[in-house]
Amino acid sequence: MPIIERRRAVTAQVGGVPIGSAHPIVVQSMTNTDTADVAATTEQVAALAAAGSELVRVTVNSDAAAAAVPEVAERLADRGVTVPIIGDFHYNGHLLLARHESLAATLAKYRINPGNVGARRRDENFRTIVDIAVAHDKPVRIGVNWGSLDKSLLTELMDENARRSTPFSARDVTLHAMVESAMRSAELAEEGGLAHDRIILSVKMSQVQDLVDVYRQLAPRSDHPLHLGLTEAGMGAKGIVASAAGLAILLQEGIGDTIRVSLTPAPGGDRAEEVRVAQQILQAMGLRSFMPQVTACPGCGRTTSTFFQEMAEKIQAYLHAQIPDWREHHPGVEEMRVAVMGCVVNGPGESKHANIGISLPGTFEEPKAPVYVDGKLSVTLKGDRIVDEFIEILEEYVGRTYPTPREPVTS
Ligand code: SF4
Repeated sequence: MPIIERRRAVTAQVGGVPIGSAHPIVVQSMTNTDTADVAATTEQVAALAAAGSELVRVTVNSDAAAAAVPEVAERLADRGVTVPIIGDFHYNGHLLLARHESLAATLAKYRINPGNVGARRRDENFRTIVDIAVAHDKPVRIGVNWGSLDKSLLTELMDENARRSTPFSARDVTLHAMVESAMRSAELAEEGGLAHDRIILSVKMSQVQDLVDVYRQLAPRSDHPLHLGLTEAGMGAKGIVASAAGLAILLQEGIGDTIRVSLTPAPGGDRAEEVRVAQQILQAMGLRSFMPQVTACPGCGRTTSTFFQEMAEKIQAYLHAQIPDWREHHPGVEEMRVAVMGCVVNGPGESKHANIGISLPGTFEEPKAPVYVDGKLSVTLKGDRIVDEFIEILEEYVGRTYPTPREPVTS
């Protein structure tokens, strides 16, 4: 693992999950069901948790949604799903939390957007939420968002800037306002009695360069754990690439204690994709390990058949299918590296660097596939059962290298 110094001094506990200091960077996600639909929300929270989301946020926007949350939590507990649930509040959080005692008690954290707690009685509403958090000993995330930045604060800072002899750009003032909003709100929360280690901050932007700049400004000003994410990242490759680009720069600088990838799923798409992308970002950077990684070459004119692409895909799918069981029975397997290579040029070399690798024959090469285990040639496979035989070798390797821990003997 690379040595990346994390700068947060504070650890916040969210439903038993530590966030901050040197603790592993936590992956979180958010549902897109109507929270009042208990069955659908329970299903999606369970699916996100099964994909590896360590915290799951749900929208709490109405009395019906507020009343549903404890029931969702109960159904999840019945299924053995213990992932902490976070409530996302805008506009009426102070009312809903005050009206629904069991909601306030069930949630592991409240997310407050300082730009959306009411224009007229902003501070009073904010304090109400803080009071409830204090009474229930809950942490809060002060989640400032570029799309809903506190207008009165922005106006104040724009006016101040206009009086300067050499004013800053509107973008600079906006970034400054984001940081100010987070810092002033954290101060207000602490004045209201919330402990310093019960506060997590975020300042989400939708453009990569803005995100990098605003977090670079926030990080040195506070020791609170930081929630990191590109807001409204978008769909498909655009959302994945933009999130990876922004988060990677900041994570490499030691900024970020919990991440969310805000992908827009395709209609009917899998919401858990955002969890897998977040995990991949952390694993690609060597910050955490979630599942075995497949190194597969891109293919070129030396591989005119699609055989090796299909094989890489089959092995990847096999790993995905096996990982929940392997994680439970073969601890450490998430760090395994598997190589599936297309020809002799880089095949043997890359395969030797993996825990287990196969070098398939390229066009015009002899139809045989050497398998390397822990850097040494183990066997050479031939014929049309190469994939099945390689998977058998893989299973044997996992069983031998990552043995199932013995049950403690009880008398
Ligand atoms: S390993 Fe072989 S097939 Fe794969 S990209 Fe390199 S040269 Fe092409």
